[in-house]
Amino acid sequence: LTVLGLESSCDDTAAAVLRRHGDGRIEILAEAVVGQNSAHAPFGGVVPEIAARAHAERMDGLAAGVLKEAGLTPFDLDGVAATAGPGLIGGVMAALMTAKGISLGADLPLLAVNHLEGHALSPRLTQSLAFPYLLLLVSGGHTQLVIVEGVGRMTRLGSTLDDAAGEAFDKTAKVMGLGFPGGPAVERYAQDAEAPDRFPLPLMLARDTSCNFSFAGLKTAARRHWDGLDAPDDRDRADLAASMQAAIARHLAQRAGRAMEIFKTRFETLDAPLPLVAAGGVASNTAVRAALEAEAQRHGFALIAPPLKYCTDNAAMIALAGVERLALGLTNGLDAPARPRWPLDQDAAAQAPASG
Ligand code: ATP
Ligand code: FE
Repeated sequence: LTVLGLESSCDDTAAAVLRRHGDGRIEILAEAVVGQNSAHAPFGGVVPEIAARAHAERMDGLAAGVLKEAGLTPFDLDGVAATAGPGLIGGVMAALMTAKGISLGADLPLLAVNHLEGHALSPRLTQSLAFPYLLLLVSGGHTQLVIVEGVGRMTRLGSTLDDAAGEAFDKTAKVMGLGFPGGPAVERYAQDAEAPDRFPLPLMLARDTSCNFSFAGLKTAARRHWDGLDAPDDRDRADLAASMQAAIARHLAQRAGRAMEIFKTRFETLDAPLPLVAAGGVASNTAVRAALEAEAQRHGFALIAPPLKYCTDNAAMIALAGVERLALGLTNGLDAPARPRWPLDQDAAAQAPASG
């Protein structure tokens, strides 16, 4: 099965052609990602109108480009997949509309993919990884612990009560004037820290027994440290970046530890080491990976993280979710809506305290 995947839910426009062979092997025939960092940098964050316009201008060309690179026309495809949410609605429309056009024009099944399902399946792009696995999804808009039992079969154990982990990175970077996007900038500065423990930051929800997260207190504490400095220089920036990065990593690892115990009880017949998958942009952070690795080992798990380029937004993961849905007959009609909000597991979402 060969599927074209399109992605435009945030600030990356992306297209990919992916083939699933008869033996289940995944082959990425062509892929392209165009970012918009320089367009949003002056504003210190993603501006929805600018993003939507840029996606609309580039989507068709990008789709045509990857098809050409793969040596295919739409008539050679078995389906066309697009992110249908969650995300900035103007952006989501770009990929979804293009996919609908191709679906109609070449009489192909449409696959309306949940962007978070794409992130959740992303490690399966480059390695064979069986279900079930425990997923820590840490991106710009989401921080969740999820049991992944299959395509469309996901149970959320916990999510953030306020900011996402990526937001905590981005907002702290903004306070210190490190540039946009904040996560990579914080990581870069942290590498030069001389006193990475100089700024004490709390362990959030230390006594809470759920699998939820909270970053708002950390962000405020970091800002207070920053405001307390007179004439801060790069040395202060590096030390605070390192302190913040370590605090975020600590919190993520501690919460993941709780989820690992739940997963272990639920799937006690599985052989160790059990799989802990980290996906989303923040999973590309070295300190975060190291903290998760150590915690995983303590609980009899092994950390699995996709290569860096599949941690952040890409269309290969959307094509993969699409091809798996196609194989299961889970196709969508041309009336599939673009959804600004779309929890991974609808049922648990009804009980969840926050958007996560
Ligand atoms: P969502 O998937 O929730 O809609 P998104 O697609 O914008 O959000 P991603 O592209 O997965 O999110 O990740 C972007 C986030 O990851 C940003 O907040 C960015 O700062 C953060 N990030 C990227 N690289 C790093 C890094 N090296 N260290 C820390 N954070 C990082
Ligand atoms: Fe994303």
